[in-house]
Amino acid sequence: MCSRDVVRLLFAAQQACNLDVMLAVLYALLEALSVELDIERNDIKCCLHKVVLDSTIVYSIVLYDAVAGGAGHVRRLATEDGSVFQRVVKRAIAITKGCNCSPSCYSCLRNYQNQKIHDLLNRTYAYQFLENYTGVLQPLSNDAFASGGIGI
Ligand SMILES: [Zn+2]
Repeated sequence: MCSRDVVRLLFAAQQACNLDVMLAVLYALLEALSVELDIERNDIKCCLHKVVLDSTIVYSIVLYDAVAGGAGHVRRLATEDGSVFQRVVKRAIAITKGCNCSPSCYSCLRNYQNQKIHDLLNRTYAYQFLENYTGVLQPLSNDAFASGGIGI
């Protein structure tokens, strides 16, 4: 199995157990990551990953490079001081808060890859969650990634 860069975002927030909220947050961050780091949108993939946090099941966000052994885009997010991640979060809030649609459109959360769940994506959920975020970034092993991932 090829190694690939995987980053998991775990949010210590009550709303992290809400699937609809986390889907909105996931795609807001993905869009922001692509814009902020100038990465082709299709070069990054994502999914939600169930984890137990303080005896509650929450959805963590897993981001990874679409191409194994590729350019290491996702790794760029995980700087030690968290400054890149902060920029991405700010951008995600700007994208979702600054849109005029309801509940989402192709300018904020929707894209070709998530068309099956367009109706579920609500930009309001994304910025309300991210404005209050307390996130932890952690690299994830391939084994941990392979078990329990939810493909979207
Ligand atoms: Zn929109």
